[in-house]
Amino acid sequence: MTPFIIDAHQDLAWNMLTFGRDYSQTVAETRQREQDTFAVENNGDSTISWHEYQKGRIALVFATLFAAPHKAKAGEWDSETYQTSREAHQLYKKQLDVYDRLFDQHPNEFAPVRSNRDLTTLFEGWKTLPGPHPTGLVTLMEGGDGIRSIDELDEWWERGVRIIGPAWMATYYCGGTREPGPLTAAGHSLLNGMAERGFSLDISHMAWESALEALDRYPGPILASHANPLKMVKNGTSNRFLTDEIIDHLLERDGTIGIVPFNRFLDQNWKNSDPRQNCSLEMVATHIDYICQRAGNAQHVGFGTDFDGGFGLQHIPPEMDTIADLQKLAPILSARGYSDRDIENIFGKNWLTHLEKSLPA
Ligand SMILES: [Zn+2]
Repeated sequence: MTPFIIDAHQDLAWNMLTFGRDYSQTVAETRQREQDTFAVENNGDSTISWHEYQKGRIALVFATLFAAPHKAKAGEWDSETYQTSREAHQLYKKQLDVYDRLFDQHPNEFAPVRSNRDLTTLFEGWKTLPGPHPTGLVTLMEGGDGIRSIDELDEWWERGVRIIGPAWMATYYCGGTREPGPLTAAGHSLLNGMAERGFSLDISHMAWESALEALDRYPGPILASHANPLKMVKNGTSNRFLTDEIIDHLLERDGTIGIVPFNRFLDQNWKNSDPRQNCSLEMVATHIDYICQRAGNAQHVGFGTDFDGGFGLQHIPPEMDTIADLQKLAPILSARGYSDRDIENIFGKNWLTHLEKSLPA
């Protein structure tokens, strides 16, 4: 059977609120409806939907709560931005409501995954039957500014959040993308509070010094849901990518890294006006391979596509039309000497193992 896939990063709620996307519709329907609209102009054509999840056997997605600070507002259309932690809090809560409605309205398509029991139920189907199946969603909070106090963590946990990435750009808690800096005093308290409650820590957007500090001191499960190795990114200089030191610490901590098949994460100088053909799935395979070579095995890397998260069809390798085409990486990895078992691990089982170890019973 074709291996199932787990994708560790998709901003579903952000897209639903910003562009009115309906992921129970097909990608073709969404593209048709959005022709010549601000959604395509600013984000490209959509590449994800439940139908595509079925086609590509995407069994589970880490679905984010995401809002940008006002200083990063991309245009008038960019509705999900905040100026204060109170506003961030409200936006994140609104996105949780979006997911709750999605589960209510489409129980056969989307299922919340908050515990090992939920995981077992979900994968009973995916592991043994051809489908269709609901795709499971694990809630990941990207950017910590919506957390107004450590006590609030109980409430976020109660509402189903299981993974927190404290940074996007710099936040109240730590340095972030393009805004270097260490963990703040509040950041240290946040990590303590997260560890006490059993959250996983996502270091994806954390500034290098913050990430290294967190890797040293966070006792709980750690991951990089969507981040590529700096050394493999053509023209790569951004602190959005992972240095070897961070990768090695993460591997020592039994962490897993989700590779992003976005052209600008393959070549930092790639611009939206450049041909898609300048990048390729081979480059994605090279990023995956790099992590495996450093780890000495194929057990610490997976996908974190971030598809529809600020980019779309026009901005991904030309072999791909939708998320279902992730399956095209199987023959590429196979040609590089990866076994079927390695490919199953990379496609989904590494993230599944992370979830089995980190989610409550
Ligand atoms: Zn991100």
